[in-house]
Amino acid sequence: MINLKEYGFTQEIQEEKKAFPDSIPARITEVHRELYKIISQHGESNAKLKGSFYNQVTMAEDFPAVGDFVLINYNTQGDSVIVKVLPRKSKFSRPDYSGHNAGYVKTILEQVVAANFDYVFIMASLNYDFNINRIQRYVAVAWESGGIPVVILTKADLVPDYIEQVKEVQNQIMGVDIIAVSSVNSVGIEKLSQYLTPGKTLVFLGSSGVGKSSLVNTLAGETIMLVNTIREDDSKGRHTTTHRQLILLQNGVMIIDTPGMRELGMWDVKEGLGETFSDIEDLFDKCKFSDCSHKKEPGCAVTKAIENGSLQISRWKNYLRLKGEAKFTEDKSGYLKTKKDWGKKISKDLKKMNTIGGKR
Ligand code: GDP
Ligand code: ZN
Repeated sequence: MINLKEYGFTQEIQEEKKAFPDSIPARITEVHRELYKIISQHGESNAKLKGSFYNQVTMAEDFPAVGDFVLINYNTQGDSVIVKVLPRKSKFSRPDYSGHNAGYVKTILEQVVAANFDYVFIMASLNYDFNINRIQRYVAVAWESGGIPVVILTKADLVPDYIEQVKEVQNQIMGVDIIAVSSVNSVGIEKLSQYLTPGKTLVFLGSSGVGKSSLVNTLAGETIMLVNTIREDDSKGRHTTTHRQLILLQNGVMIIDTPGMRELGMWDVKEGLGETFSDIEDLFDKCKFSDCSHKKEPGCAVTKAIENGSLQISRWKNYLRLKGEAKFTEDKSGYLKTKKDWGKKISKDLKKMNTIGGKR
């Protein structure tokens, strides 16, 4: 008998059940073309969408995604039937170009690639291609998703003096835990334990090669995923012991790993910006003019903060850049049209910014 609590079922979800008295809750562990793998009190089984579902949905995002909690009519003989997708507390989406659901939905908007995770482990390698801007971008995306970002700096065993890099990230990214780890000598792994409690769900964000699979294996205490060196193709054969896209570890922690998670871009990053750069946005209220463009105006709080050193010019530039990128995705249809122009404008702004502080 499966303990549903271990899969993160909450009381609220039990409440939703009242409208469907014969149904039981389940969680989606794999999404295939029209078949879903689920876990419920009866263990693992297959499920299909209720026929009328296809008439009701108006958006691709309405379809079940990995990590979704759903209500099913359990079928002992064959596939169970999904009658409702329960509200998501967090999600990652990407534009749906696949046409997968195109026959059913009126407008293709977004495809949810992971749902109902608690923590987003943002992974970057300390030794190679260390890029704070990219980390910052992921943090913004993570806040937007509804999950809690945790920045994991990997391969600490290869960089003996990583403390400086950790500090650098801490200075630039506020309100987020920054943890240096190694899957080789286990440095920092115990600091992750606060996030590894039964019933919690994790997702991993980060470029290929940063050590995501290795960390999953370290946390699992067994080889669940193939690491890069022996993996020929990033999209295939990634899992050794399971094809599941939602993996339950022995300790009750779940990890969502879908192909879509690895392709996440700047989709809908806008909301997240306020969180990571809230200290900068607080400055805007202190500018003399309410319509201050923070360039040359007298009484500009941003200029002042840069001059007196309380705001690093690099953070301000990151803010402008991210704001620019978020702007493209705000109007999704105009995205490709305007990206170039906006990019020009931003780089002009950055040039001007360089002259404010007098130095880079
Ligand atoms: P992924 O693509 O993000 O899943 O990265 P992998 O886990 O497949 O790791 C990529 C490469 O980095 C492999 O060669 C791993 O052996 C290596 N690697 C991963 N974590 C560590 C670590 O903590 N220390 C060292 N030295 N190498 C690591
Ligand atoms: Zn200003």
